[in-house]
Amino acid sequence: MIAQRVRQLMIYILIAAVMLTACTPAATQAPPAATEPPQEATEAPAATEAPTATEAPITDTELNVLCTPQEQWCQGMKQEFEAKYGITVNYVRMSSGEALARIQAEKDNPTFDIWWGGPIDSFISAKGDGLLEAYDSPNYANLSDPVKMKDVDNQWVGVYMGTLGFATNTDWLAAHPEAKAPTSWDDLLKPEFTGQVMVAHPSSSGTSYTALATILQLKGEEAGWEYLKKYAAQVSQFTKSGAAPAKFVGQGEAAVAIVFSHDIVNEIDNNKLPLVLTFPEEGTGYEIGGMAILKGAKHMQAAKLWFDWALTPETQALGPKYAAYQAPTVKGVELSHPELLQVNLIDYDFIWAGEHKKEFVDKFTNEIAGADNLKQ
Ligand code: PLP
Repeated sequence: MIAQRVRQLMIYILIAAVMLTACTPAATQAPPAATEPPQEATEAPAATEAPTATEAPITDTELNVLCTPQEQWCQGMKQEFEAKYGITVNYVRMSSGEALARIQAEKDNPTFDIWWGGPIDSFISAKGDGLLEAYDSPNYANLSDPVKMKDVDNQWVGVYMGTLGFATNTDWLAAHPEAKAPTSWDDLLKPEFTGQVMVAHPSSSGTSYTALATILQLKGEEAGWEYLKKYAAQVSQFTKSGAAPAKFVGQGEAAVAIVFSHDIVNEIDNNKLPLVLTFPEEGTGYEIGGMAILKGAKHMQAAKLWFDWALTPETQALGPKYAAYQAPTVKGVELSHPELLQVNLIDYDFIWAGEHKKEFVDKFTNEIAGADNLKQ
């Protein structure tokens, strides 16, 4: 009898212990922090960075970044993040269209955790395909224009801004005194620029898609497509990457490039190429460079850490150190080139441009200019 009571008591104790373990919050079961990479909470200025102190310790030791801006900036961001957090960053640099195709192809088993940079139109397109993970970053509070710079469902956010401009080779201008650097989209159609225009192809490049969507918004769709046929006929060769035409034109391969103005400034100031920067006076388009966590990311904690870090003034102020002169999207960062934003900008509709990206790129590729043999 006594033995039976003792057995019953032991069973009750066992059941109570199991229930207690099941109810224990996950945070207390996480591995100890001692061997983990340093966390933001102990290192970062509290006001602008993520409050990770109350969350589970970060166990990710690496992060796979799909990086769309210029190589130098991607490399710089990798090094800065690694030095700050002790998490290894593996990145691949891809133009926007290639990046989008890659994450679509890897939908069920993504290689990349986070996609950083490149015009937001591609991110809006990716959101439409269900490829992005929503994340409510505490650092959205840092954004200077949260309505414009952030997705309503928290699936993408802006990390920089840039305006489209024209880069004309000054040696070519000197040799062609009848020609002037273009100051209007229509100037690109002048006979002196036939076979002298370089721009990336919109299927691979976000820069080029921004130009295409700008023209359609400025001129209206019908007149815009008519213009685009004539514009494409002026092009000597389409490139794969958006920034490349400024370099090629600087080297004398053609007269005019259509590129983001911060890339033109980089070629003039740092690479001393003979280029002059002009803008279309009737209005130019601009980009919000985006960032998003990919759905199914395997290093979700590290991806969120990068996401929060990229939305701090300290991180956005790093751009010029790596020859990146895009404007920041967060408050408290001095603009390296404020004049690049002080131009006539169209009221670029990012949602419309993003939602029509596939349709417009297909139309351009199938009806105007194919994407075979793009110059690298
Ligand atoms: N590189 C630079 C310097 C940029 O400013 C941008 C725009 O976001 C990109 C690359 C985007 O690349 P792509 O036009 O090749 O998609």
